[in-house]
Amino acid sequence: MTDDTLYARMQDAVDIVANSPHPANKIAATVAGADGGFALSLTNSWPEPIDKKIGRATRIGNSSGTIHAETACLIHAPGPVKNGALFVTDPPCPNCVKNMAEAGIKTLYIDHKGFDKDFAQRRGHHFTSMSMRICEKAGISVYEIWRKEKKLVPILEVPENYTPPLENASLTESAGTAMDHASFAKHVEMRAAHYQDKPFAVAAARDKAGAWFVISAETHPVIGYTSEMPEDLEGKYNVLLQPVNRVIMTAARRGLTIDPAYLYSSIVPTARELVNMTGAGLNKIAIGDINASRDAFGPAALKQLQNAGILDASN
Ligand SMILES: [Zn+2]
Repeated sequence: MTDDTLYARMQDAVDIVANSPHPANKIAATVAGADGGFALSLTNSWPEPIDKKIGRATRIGNSSGTIHAETACLIHAPGPVKNGALFVTDPPCPNCVKNMAEAGIKTLYIDHKGFDKDFAQRRGHHFTSMSMRICEKAGISVYEIWRKEKKLVPILEVPENYTPPLENASLTESAGTAMDHASFAKHVEMRAAHYQDKPFAVAAARDKAGAWFVISAETHPVIGYTSEMPEDLEGKYNVLLQPVNRVIMTAARRGLTIDPAYLYSSIVPTARELVNMTGAGLNKIAIGDINASRDAFGPAALKQLQNAGILDASN
């Protein structure tokens, strides 16, 4: 991307930030593919089914009902985001940076105005102590961008030859040109043998040409961290990424579209996974053990979404 394109992509985000439905935190982002093949700008927002059927004031389990702009861009990117760039009006939260790492974003640009406002009080601490630490380990370079002045200020430059450590990457297998429930069930069975007792998720997804892929993942620290270094972040943040979330981000990484008919989780997903699923248009899930969950918020969130007719869960 030329420098002029960088400023333009950030401007695209700035141009829509006022459209954010959030009354207080209006944030927008642009995701751009590595080859410059696509660019998509979105604000933070409530997924339509949550907005219409549950409302903005209600938390879903212990999760807010919103999808942050950065994560929305990854979920809805029209092509593979691997090695792509993300432009954000504000410094991103640790959870969005985890998603960026899993999706393979290589460069993060933050508008310089995002560092003004009441940023230092609101998110400054989480950004410097956690988001930046994840970027460093995942190998995401970070720049502050000044559109009018046409200036790029490096915040973190990752060495060209840096490769992040990763033990248990999500698996993506080619699955031919046809998919049905019987063959998906077989894939789930094989993945169950692979992950044994660990929570995992499986999805079938298609590329633009219609070829099927089966993606699976277990709970694992975000790319850049290994289980040998299970460094804990603070408060509501940790370095773990949950299986359904990893599967969604792996689809984004590869430019694949998950078919909601073929999504499986061995346990009840977390509240945040369920909100992200809803944001990704995934309105069905098969759950292996409906009585197992990471915490009590997942089942509570599941019940809310089922009762509102947003999510169809089977086992
Ligand atoms: Zn975020």
